[in-house]
Amino acid sequence: MVRAQPVVDPFGRAITYLRVSVTDRCDFRCVYCMSENMTFLPKAELLTLEELDRVCGTFVAMGVRKLRLTGGEPLVRRDIMGLIRSLGRHLASGMLDELTLTTNGSQLARFAETLRECGVRRINLSLDTLDPEKFAAITRWGRLAQVMEGLGAAKAAGLAVKINMVALKGVNDGEFDRMIAWCGDEGLDLTIIEVMPMGDIGNETRLDQYLPLSLVRAGIQRNWTLDETDYRTGGPARYVVVRETGRRLGFITPLTHNFCESCNRVRLTCTGTLYMCLGQNDAADLRSPVRQSPTDAPLEAAIHAAIARKPKGHDFIIDRRRPAISVPRHMSVTGG
Ligand code: SAM
Ligand code: SF4
Repeated sequence: MVRAQPVVDPFGRAITYLRVSVTDRCDFRCVYCMSENMTFLPKAELLTLEELDRVCGTFVAMGVRKLRLTGGEPLVRRDIMGLIRSLGRHLASGMLDELTLTTNGSQLARFAETLRECGVRRINLSLDTLDPEKFAAITRWGRLAQVMEGLGAAKAAGLAVKINMVALKGVNDGEFDRMIAWCGDEGLDLTIIEVMPMGDIGNETRLDQYLPLSLVRAGIQRNWTLDETDYRTGGPARYVVVRETGRRLGFITPLTHNFCESCNRVRLTCTGTLYMCLGQNDAADLRSPVRQSPTDAPLEAAIHAAIARKPKGHDFIIDRRRPAISVPRHMSVTGG
């Protein structure tokens, strides 16, 4: 097996991680992510699963070592298991280190076993509260029991699960201690995420939801001992270990802490648009080179040209002078 040399951006960052939003659709309507009445992308604009497979394969050949499928809800895309199974070939060949996904858990009871068979070993599961009523209020259309069933199936299948919890002022800000204790009992790592200003979400404004993680961390430290660790995933999370539970606790703080200098990733949408930064609008069209040529050379050239434009960092701002959204697309388009 020839290990591909990763493409390096103008700031010397090797691009080894591709996140793919396989659909912008979802069976939930989380209040911080979507409005209740969403207009989704026309199906005709989507890359087919075969085209997604081809683009992912090209990135792998260009040095990407980690693929994460996300969305929208990745497991609601029809026949998604066919794509995951096919991508598993890159694990078998040694070209890929990890194939993983971020999911709301609603479909895990059906798919956990097959995910494991396809080579998936770890998943991120989004869970903002352990209270069934709050869960229904946050997700609008979700049921906590269904997600808990999915979590049970994932654990039974031998998948390692990390919980993602978005910190929401006045909603789940009293639940961090309970979540840390529960993750300890269940053997799960936890990452707490600061809400990011992405997409129109209807009536609520970002200032209503925004809770700086510096405050969250200070509150947690009153009841738990947080030991520093140099564990890094190359991503935006900073990790500590909770001494009392032995589990990792991550903080993703895009707004209070800049994580851009170690960014190793780019993001592909389900329509074949490549975003070089979650917090910037510049993007490259990969659908045209995929559709215009049966060979991969034009696609590779488009990827090289895009990575050469990867910006140094993002410009997210939430403050009283600029309550407007900073990035007009929803998180479900680029997948977080
Ligand atoms: N549907 C899947 C899920 O919920 O895990 C995958 C897609 S979702 C967009 C990916 C992650 O982004 C989730 O953990 C979600 O909580 C988070 N997220 C969505 N909108 C966000 C926002 N505006 N700020 C911060 N995190 C957000
Ligand atoms: Fe769906 Fe995930 Fe967005 Fe919630 S956060 S609406 S589950 S895409």
